[in-house]
Amino acid sequence: MNMVELLEKKKLGFTLSPEEIDYFVSGSTKGGIPDYQIAAMLMAIRIMGMNREETSQLTLAMTRSGDQVDLSALAGIPADKHSTGGVGDTTTLILVPLVAACGVPVAKMSGRGLGHTGGTLDKLESIPGFRIELGMEQFMAQVGEIGCAVIGQSGDLAPADKVFYSLRDVTATVDSLPLIAGSIMSKKLASGAQAIVLDVKTGTGAIMQTLTESIELAQAMVRIGEDAGRRMVALVTDMGEPLGSHIGNALEVKEAMDVLAGRVRGPLLSVSLELGGWMLVLGGVAGSMAEAKAKLEEALASGAGLKTLARMISAQGGDARCCDDTSMLPQARVIADVPAISNGFVQDMDATELGNTAQGMGAGRRQKTDVIDYSVGFVLHKRIGDAVEVGETIATVHAKNEADARSAAKRIQEAVHIGAEETPPSKLVYAVVTGEGVHRL
Ligand code: URA
Ligand code: CA
Repeated sequence: MNMVELLEKKKLGFTLSPEEIDYFVSGSTKGGIPDYQIAAMLMAIRIMGMNREETSQLTLAMTRSGDQVDLSALAGIPADKHSTGGVGDTTTLILVPLVAACGVPVAKMSGRGLGHTGGTLDKLESIPGFRIELGMEQFMAQVGEIGCAVIGQSGDLAPADKVFYSLRDVTATVDSLPLIAGSIMSKKLASGAQAIVLDVKTGTGAIMQTLTESIELAQAMVRIGEDAGRRMVALVTDMGEPLGSHIGNALEVKEAMDVLAGRVRGPLLSVSLELGGWMLVLGGVAGSMAEAKAKLEEALASGAGLKTLARMISAQGGDARCCDDTSMLPQARVIADVPAISNGFVQDMDATELGNTAQGMGAGRRQKTDVIDYSVGFVLHKRIGDAVEVGETIATVHAKNEADARSAAKRIQEAVHIGAEETPPSKLVYAVVTGEGVHRL
């Protein structure tokens, strides 16, 4: 086998065999295939596409390229959830303890913020003392005892993805459905969960902006997971505006704690219950979504969810007292209200711009070496469809200094589009995708 032949084949749109895909992936990871041939193959895949079988083979080969976590020692069916990335999307911090409190183990490896989107690890590190690095033994022991743990990727998970992603980033080949699906699913499969619930975002703040593309990505990932023998469901959910009202690391942790304490309901909780509900169904502890949601509501009302979060925080070195007293989380120096500049209704929001605004205030990194300011960000007081009057507070910024507060306020005023027309609120979940098909809501 040689790469020139494989490139010729994919360039002309022919199907690559499992052996050929394996040769490409292992040669790309272990060395042997130079970057220019890897990049040429990625471009050929971007342009000619891959069928279901090829996409699954590519993903499995990427999964095999590194370590694979073995969760079989855990009692029950370990479940995981993955989001394609959003703004104000703190569902993980809510559903992980709720699902664990209902008896489904969650051994989760999360990521950091990327671009305009926040990352669970950065949010968790805003809790004083919290450690996201645990040895494999401690990770497993904690899940066995408490029901959940959330850590950073340990070991060498899907190294083929690192090789491909760094080349895709500089060769205009990120936006390829089989490559995105393979990238996400190789990491999920390698991290060992048997039941996987995907949250595929759609809208102005998402990697897939149209519903059709988002559903296609969801279907591709569900098929890959099922071909690998995992239990799969994907929800296509809205990212035309931030999901929660709080954007920024400590602010999002506070919002998750407020939800788990029963102080706040709303879209963030609704989507958490949908995703968490599917984790209970796939995890085998609920026979229907109605039963699953009732269990989650019970864990919320009894405080079992918040208690599980507190136990997880303590076990990972964090100060669990902030679950009851969120003022112990990092607090920004300057807090200022943002007034509306016109009358009407919120028509739309630029969710990517809102995410970038928080990142620009210091909530994210522009370079790997940047240090995050956990305290900064903002709280939105309006959602799409809400009525607004001039001068009314639409947001509250939490900033490092006055200058940052002013510039963030201006960006927020521009990203929240107010117009005269009455507008309905956005749907939260657009579609449920299973191996059987697509159910549009
Ligand atoms: N997230 C990933 O992990 N990989 C992609 O290719 C796109 C989004
Ligand atoms: Ca929008």
